This record gives sequence, C-alpha cells and structure tokens, in this order.
Amino acid sequence: MNNSQLLHADRSAAVLEAVLELTESGLWELEIDSGGPSMRMIGVVRDVTRYHDQESRWQRLARSVPGIIYTFRVDTQGRASFPYTSDRVRDFYGVTPEEVRRDPSCIFDAIHRDDFSRLMESIEASRRHLTDWQFEYRARAGGTWRWMEARSSPEREPDGGTVWQGLIYPVDERKALEDKLRRLSLTDELTGLYNRRHLLACMDEEIARFRRYGTPFAVVMLDLDHFKQVNDTWGHAVGDEVLKGLARLFRERLRETDIAGRAGGEEFLLLLPNTDEAGAVAMAEGVRQGLAATSFSDGKGGAFQVTVSGGVAAMRDPAEEHNHLWSRADRALYRAKEAGRNRVRCR
Ligand code: GH3
Ligand code: MG
Ligand code: MG
Repeated sequence: MNNSQLLHADRSAAVLEAVLELTESGLWELEIDSGGPSMRMIGVVRDVTRYHDQESRWQRLARSVPGIIYTFRVDTQGRASFPYTSDRVRDFYGVTPEEVRRDPSCIFDAIHRDDFSRLMESIEASRRHLTDWQFEYRARAGGTWRWMEARSSPEREPDGGTVWQGLIYPVDERKALEDKLRRLSLTDELTGLYNRRHLLACMDEEIARFRRYGTPFAVVMLDLDHFKQVNDTWGHAVGDEVLKGLARLFRERLRETDIAGRAGGEEFLLLLPNTDEAGAVAMAEGVRQGLAATSFSDGKGGAFQVTVSGGVAAMRDPAEEHNHLWSRADRALYRAKEAGRNRVRCR
C-alpha cells in the first residue's frame, strides 16, 4: 500500500475532507473535517504483501493434501460449527468451505447412520477429556459411500468452547485391504468356506449361548467318500471342483445363521445354531442326498457322482468343550463310514 492509494481511498468518501500524514514508520494520522465536530484518527499502516503470499502458499499446500484440513468447534451450548475447511471439501462432500461454515449439517448429514452416534460419542469424549480424536466412518461422497478417517487435536478456548484442528481423508483402499485380509484369515481359499480356526471360534460362541440360554446347538461332520479315488481317477483339479461343488451345495441349503467350514482336506463341518439332533440329521441328510444327485464333469466329456458321509452331534452337557463335541461328531462319522458310507449317523 502506498500513500497515494490511501489518499485516493479517502477522497472517494466525498463528504470528508481528510489530511493524511504518513510517517516513515508507517504510522498515520487522519483529520476529518466534515463540517461537524472535527475528528482525528491515528493508526498503523502495515505492509500485508507477505501475509497474502503466505495465505496463497497455505491454500496451495491445503490443496495438495489428499484430504480436508479443518477446524471444528463446539461452543459451551454444544453448538457445532466448522469455522474453516480447506477447499478440498468440495471434492468429497460437494459443498464449498463457505457453505460448510454457514451450515455444518452438510457434513454431518453425509455420515452413515450406523456410524453417526458412535462418532458423536467419540467427539464428546474428546471434548471432555481433551484427548486426540480419531475416527473411521462411512460418508456419502459424490453419490457413493466412502470410508473416511478423521484425526484431530482439541484445545479449550478461553470462553469454554472447544476447537479441533485436523484432517479428514479417504481410507477406502486401506479398508478394502483390511477386509480382504480379515476374510483371508477366516476362510479357506479353495472353497471360500470358513477355515478350522474360525469354526472353533464360532463353536465357542454357540457353546456359550447354549450354556447361558440353553439354546440348542448341533454340529455335522461331513467327509467325502473314497475321495482319494476321485483324485486318482480324474486328477486333482477335478477333485478340487468336487470340493467347490459341495461348498456350493452348502450355500444353497443352509440357513442364514448356519455356518459351513472346511475342517481340512475333504472334511467339512456344519455349525447349526438353534438346531437339535433331529434337525441336524435332517440337514445332513439333505446335503447327502443333494450331493448324490449332483453330476460332476470328469473333464473329458463324461460325468460322475460322489457321495458323502455325515456324523451328527448335538450339545447336551453344558460342561462340554468344543474339542469334545467335535470328536463326538467325528466318531458318528466313523460309524457312518463303517456302516457302508453315503449315510448319516448321530451320537
Ligand atoms: P473315505 O471314504 O474313507 O473318507 O476315503 P477317502 O479316499 O475319502 O479318504 P482318504 O483320507 O484316504 O483320502 C482323502 C483324500 O482327499 C486324499 C487327498 O489327496 C484328498 N484331498 C485332500 N485335500 C484335497 C484338496 O484340496 N484337493 C483335492 N483335489 N484333494 C484333496
Ligand atoms: Mg474321505
Ligand atoms: Mg477324510
């Protein structure tokens, strides 16, 4: 800013006659004689070029961050506002920083309702204890649901309000990877069924339910008959198709709450909550008959059938542990094999 600009500005206020004295140090003094009482104003002229440079540098930096930089405030009445959001808020929420400043609900309304109350509770805990806030949630952005993560640090203001400075950024890729890893750690790769480790964890849950509420619970152990011959005759790849076919059969026949897993090799375990021994035998019979009626391609233009044997064990004694229940089903399966295979036995 220079002397002449300021004089010009004052002249534009036509009713005032102003005398401007700019001193070297940047102090100014202004006498206003508008016909009424004469006034004198004293102030400081400051060069703000650097400030504007910093501001635009800050905006460029904020744009290069792959997320939204924000200031969030909750006043003593519990009213929430976003005094500042970086320009990136447009990319994720389709609103301008100005709109967010006027109405914070455009951010809150985009949050998935299943995540909303937990998010609000965690903000409240951060406000009360002044602890760093971190939260993962789903937000509707650009017409699709995205996983976002927000991190910020709170500070108490002199008037009792709380201000958080932080960052919101998308974590879809990380979430997808985490989901995939979790799925892989629980499932068997070939059949997509649960693995032995997860089966045991689920069994423990069902056993706990039986102990607490007496809810019936039964398991079915299934083992393909003469499966070694299938591999020996048609090859391992055809054998794999049979294992996948049996997994498909489970998906078609089992109820939503039933759990099917691969116990290992060509052995499978079904966990049937809310099912007594008779119900479990009926389920196992259905699977046995379904498999017997299924044709598999031998890979050379022909087809063949496979059978399965099953052993059923239902929870009876609250003191029973999962390994005992498992071995009871195993013994029942052994009896089915001994009795000639392609049948179900219980114990
Ligand atoms: P039984 O009726 O007594 O159960 O006879 P079986 O031949 O089914 O039993 P055995 O235990 O002798 O053989 C199991 C076979 O299962 C041998 C093994 O190669 C095969 N198997 C185990 N896992 C897989 C797999 O992932 N893919 C394929 N194709 N075969 C498998
Ligand atoms: Mg077998
Ligand atoms: Mg076996």
